[in-house]
Amino acid sequence: MAIFPSVIDNQTFAKRDDTQNVKKLPTWGRNNYVTFLNWIAVVSLLFLTPLLQFYFVFSMQEADGSLTQPLLDFLKGRPLASYWIPNTTKLIKAAKLYTFWTVFQILCALFVPGRTGFGQVTPAGHKLKYKVNGLNCYLLTLLVFFAGSYFNFWAPTIIYDYWIELSVCMQVHGFLLALFAYLKAKYYSSHPEDNKISNSVLYDFFLGVELNPRIGDFDFKLFYNGRIGIILWTLVNLSCAARQYQLYGALTNSMVLLNIGQAVYVADFFFHEDWYLRTIDICHDHFGYYLAWGDTAWLPIMYALQAPFLVRHPRVLSTVECFLISLLFSLGYLIFRSANNQKDKFRATEGKAFFFNQKPTFINANYVTADGKQRESKLLTSGWWGLARHFNYTADLMMSLSFCLVCGFDYVLPYFYFLQLTILLVSRVFRDEAKCLSKYGVYWRKYCAKVKWRLIPKIF
Ligand code: NDP
Repeated sequence: MAIFPSVIDNQTFAKRDDTQNVKKLPTWGRNNYVTFLNWIAVVSLLFLTPLLQFYFVFSMQEADGSLTQPLLDFLKGRPLASYWIPNTTKLIKAAKLYTFWTVFQILCALFVPGRTGFGQVTPAGHKLKYKVNGLNCYLLTLLVFFAGSYFNFWAPTIIYDYWIELSVCMQVHGFLLALFAYLKAKYYSSHPEDNKISNSVLYDFFLGVELNPRIGDFDFKLFYNGRIGIILWTLVNLSCAARQYQLYGALTNSMVLLNIGQAVYVADFFFHEDWYLRTIDICHDHFGYYLAWGDTAWLPIMYALQAPFLVRHPRVLSTVECFLISLLFSLGYLIFRSANNQKDKFRATEGKAFFFNQKPTFINANYVTADGKQRESKLLTSGWWGLARHFNYTADLMMSLSFCLVCGFDYVLPYFYFLQLTILLVSRVFRDEAKCLSKYGVYWRKYCAKVKWRLIPKIF
């Protein structure tokens, strides 16, 4: 296998004509044949994402949230080595803490009770069983965090206090995990028939080879996508709130709003964990650096930038600001939840669920699976799914904007969450639509003709 991609064979890309079904389905999010541009993109992301994560952590810790200051200093000749002088004692303590955290979460995932859930049938025909115990693990973790703080096993500010060192541990964990995922796929794959391999090792390392890597009942994708990083998000916020309280003797309303909003978002995720098993993350993404490093090192830092920012820049919101931000969040949340529920119920009942006493309208859509079998699916054209094809993404963006707005307008850094989610979800719109067009062909075109807008009716 070459590190550099070999010659591209365009004929192997998916082709379809609109009356027939798919001759060869492309694989969601990744190609079987890697172009030079794909390869450049992957290499750039492999180099840039860890640097970017470090740059943001550094900007927060050393430049009080200014994204330009560290760069200006560098251009003025500040030596690179002076940007972070590791404190070995703190680093070792952070490594122990992080190991404890990871082991604790693995034990929770394995032994905390939960219902059994099922994913979508994989391209090779596996219907995987999952232990849906995320909510119990989340609540137990919160309980342990509060109890440990109360009985002085650790300070509630501990994550904030070791933030920069923990971010290093997360990066190391993410890289080792991505490497492990690649080697496991190669030598000990759980479902080799679902593996995807291209002509580039780096591309495979980045986007993953295995669809659902497992060891016994331990599912790596559910654990890393849906547990370790996302639970840590709430703890980062709580720890920052504790630090703000320690510094100023009170909590600002912006910190309280942020903690509540993001905790609702995370709790909702766990409350609907069964639904998550049928989303793109679990059903289509392969497990490589993108997910392994992303969920381990990117999510708990880059999604959670607002709370550390508010420790350094405490902000008291006016009543009007509080009201408007809460309104934006609440509207976003209601649409997000009801749009996702509508599709899930619609699919689970095969179109028989009622929304607000109304029978749903839909388009019957045929497609062919990899084994050549004709199958039927349904595309909902009423409710939120009749207004725009990805209204659930729009709602997610509304919530993310509300999280950033609590930080005011003086700094760019806290808005990074909104910016990255916009890039992620808009690119996902196009990737998902390419996948659906390839899967459903003429039926997808019919749906697009009926529901014209992607994210915002009459605009986009
Ligand atoms: P969706 O839940 O929108 O799922 C898209 C899939 O649903 C399509 O591939 C298609 O799959 C099916 N579908 C599309 N249109 C219809 C329709 N009209 N009727 C019925 N089925 C349809 O996408 P995601 O899994 O990406 O997202 C789930 C949620 O997670 C979203 O709310 C999103 O905002 C959120 N999210 C959050 C992220 C974050 O980092 N905060 C990251 C990613 C997602 P099929 O092949 O089954 O037909």
